[in-house]
Amino acid sequence: MDRIFNFSAGPAALPLEVLQQARAEMPNWRDSGMSVMEMSHRGKEYMSIQAEAEADLRELMGIPADYKVLFLQGGASLQFAMVPMNLLRGKASADYLNTGEWSKKAIKEAGKYGKVNVIASAEDRNFSYVPAEAQWKRDPDAAYVYITQNETIGGVEIFDTPDTGKTPLVSDMSSTILSRPIDVSRYALIFAGAQKNIGPAGLTIVIAREELLGQTVAGTPTMMDYKIQADNDSMYNTPPTYAVYMAGLVFKLLKAKGGLAEMERVNRAKAKILYDTLDASSFFDSPVAKENRSLMNIPFTLKKPELDEEFLKGAKARGMIQLKGHRSVGGMRASIYNAMPLEGVQKLSDYLREFEKTKA
Ligand SMILES: *Cc1c(COP(=O)(O)O)cnc(C)c1O
Repeated sequence: MDRIFNFSAGPAALPLEVLQQARAEMPNWRDSGMSVMEMSHRGKEYMSIQAEAEADLRELMGIPADYKVLFLQGGASLQFAMVPMNLLRGKASADYLNTGEWSKKAIKEAGKYGKVNVIASAEDRNFSYVPAEAQWKRDPDAAYVYITQNETIGGVEIFDTPDTGKTPLVSDMSSTILSRPIDVSRYALIFAGAQKNIGPAGLTIVIAREELLGQTVAGTPTMMDYKIQADNDSMYNTPPTYAVYMAGLVFKLLKAKGGLAEMERVNRAKAKILYDTLDASSFFDSPVAKENRSLMNIPFTLKKPELDEEFLKGAKARGMIQLKGHRSVGGMRASIYNAMPLEGVQKLSDYLREFEKTKA
């Protein structure tokens, strides 16, 4: 089978092992006589699939017992509304860190439900860094502090978990979840759309400290109330069953591969190959401050942007696709989630050097 190296930011490449297992189990899951897609979400087969996916995710991430794990729909973008609806809890405002396109969207949406206090913004330098924690202008009465752990478009990642004291910390981890170990207990709520580093689109995972749930703003739709979703084991309505099954296969694979510490080791090695190539080059540039360079999404620019199209064409001819940067920033971007093998990154790095030698 000819598989391409797919550097898409999302929906992104999935591990071949998972696709093959899903294919093998597609028409008849473990002698049930059915595809997972055809199962009742309340039947014992599917219930076991979802329970196992949750247990494996809890083990992988070390999720404490007083946290709920929710399997929802609506994408990470719906969380931009659900977070304030559920976590404002009668308070007037929430603190938001503005590090890029995804923060901006979250800020705009939260403004519909309460006052948003932007504690610091990296817009002054084109979202190429994370403002130092010491400079954040936090409000001690804020309902929560909101960060985007990894800005998928800008390629800016927050590696240290901020210390927000008693104020709950909320993080959009869509493009960094499962790429390295994190201390879940330091966060009040974590969410992630699945289509970056978990599984197929259609599933959003929310991990939330239970005691914070159940105090929604008036008018919150039932489906958007974390507490109701938690009380119903994410089955208030039909969950995205096949996406949960696929995510479960990914969790099992990551466990078998040695867990998130091993993922981090490999991801650091992969990112280093590309950043070292960019740093050694006088033709390609990485726009992001060194200490905030994402391990997952690596934007870069060509000194001669008129060669962008030629660069992409050459990449495609060599079996590498989806390297065009986001329409809002231009240039290139290589997304190298868990499922991108080291060989793919090595191949891209070789191509960068070859391109520079012949075209610069
Ligand atoms: C992709 C992404 C989103 C939006 O995800 P959807 O599932 O498409 O709504 C939000 N935040 C970050 C950091 C992302 O990478």
